[in-house]
Amino acid sequence: MAVLSDRAKSLKPSPTLAINAKAKSMQAQGIHVISFGAGEPDFDTPENIKKAAKKAIDEGFTKYTPVGGIDDLKDAIIKKFQRDNQVTYKRSEIIVSCGGKHSFYNLAQAIFDQGDEVIVPAPYWVSYPPMVALANGTPVMVETTEKNEFKITPDELKRAITPKTKALILNSPSNPTGSAYTKKELEKIAEIALSKEIFVISDEIYEKIVYDGFQFVSIASLSEEIKKKTIIVHGVAKTYAMTGWRIGYTAGSEEIISAMNNIQSQSTSNPTSISQKASVEALIGPQDEVTKMVTAFGQRRNYIVDRLNKILGVSCYKPIGAFYVFPNFSSYYGKSFQKKKIENSTHLADFFLDVAKVAVVPGVEFGADPFERLSYATSMEDIKEGLNRIEEALKKLS
Ligand SMILES: *Cc1c(COP(=O)(O)O)cnc(C)c1O
Repeated sequence: MAVLSDRAKSLKPSPTLAINAKAKSMQAQGIHVISFGAGEPDFDTPENIKKAAKKAIDEGFTKYTPVGGIDDLKDAIIKKFQRDNQVTYKRSEIIVSCGGKHSFYNLAQAIFDQGDEVIVPAPYWVSYPPMVALANGTPVMVETTEKNEFKITPDELKRAITPKTKALILNSPSNPTGSAYTKKELEKIAEIALSKEIFVISDEIYEKIVYDGFQFVSIASLSEEIKKKTIIVHGVAKTYAMTGWRIGYTAGSEEIISAMNNIQSQSTSNPTSISQKASVEALIGPQDEVTKMVTAFGQRRNYIVDRLNKILGVSCYKPIGAFYVFPNFSSYYGKSFQKKKIENSTHLADFFLDVAKVAVVPGVEFGADPFERLSYATSMEDIKEGLNRIEEALKKLS
């Protein structure tokens, strides 16, 4: 009998984590690699949040907690939704999990069955299709265009819906493109979701990382009806530079949340008690560190987009949120370096790493091969040097 399950054999490691591992191993060999691969803020977790965690340890708050999170944290999450999104949830409609990824995973396990189709607009976050597939659902990728700022249009959505469609995944602001839906666009999507009776899974993890005064709107806030069909996946990782603390949360109907609670109770149990206390402070404590981080991200965004658009043959959409750019390099496909032809985003990413010592993530991993993803959650100094290197390397292609 085979050692591994079909499930395990069907999976490959998360490509974003794989690129970072390769860059790190080159660095360990003494090679100065500039990494645009990071999917996490380069800032330290704010001091007030760390203090709350230390206090939790000192006070002995180090035991099991209720599976779906402590009431203090659920109340902080409820407060956050009221304060920021004008949506009201009850404790029974909130569950805390071990990171936003875990929230999504448990949600998929709770609502998808064999044959259920899940619409995933591409470019998409790398983990959506495998997590849907692990729940036996069928991810249905819908290509969006640079021209439409990588957002699914009402027509594209309608065309993708079949009698088997169970849900649409929305990620606004988006990883990897940084595009974000306006209230008007969400109203149209909500209308379609309601008329076709599908769920909307709204991944709002980048809600707070937006630029130029963009007004983030949660689709759940549009009406009582769409709120009932929406499940919000969220977390503290990106907003508060807390990727290592592993706290994510989900808001949705009591029926779904209670099913997720059962799944969690038979797998991970509660998320870390100490991180939960820290997250209370993150959500309802002072928010000025967030403003500082977003201001820094915004300056880097302006610089990186300008520079990329000045490189011959490169076009780069100016993101509204998150900390990634998704430039189109496809005009270089078909060119060669030392007799090796660059035919796709993977070849180009390998070329950048080998020749320029710059790590980027190939667009194909996000379902969009003309592009590469660059994270600007790194210092301005590295961004400048990295872009110099990319620019020089591209000149070597002919
Ligand atoms: C980072 C990220 C998450 C969740 O990350 P966690 O570290 O698991 O909290 C969820 N969705 C998207 C699109 C992300 O980029």
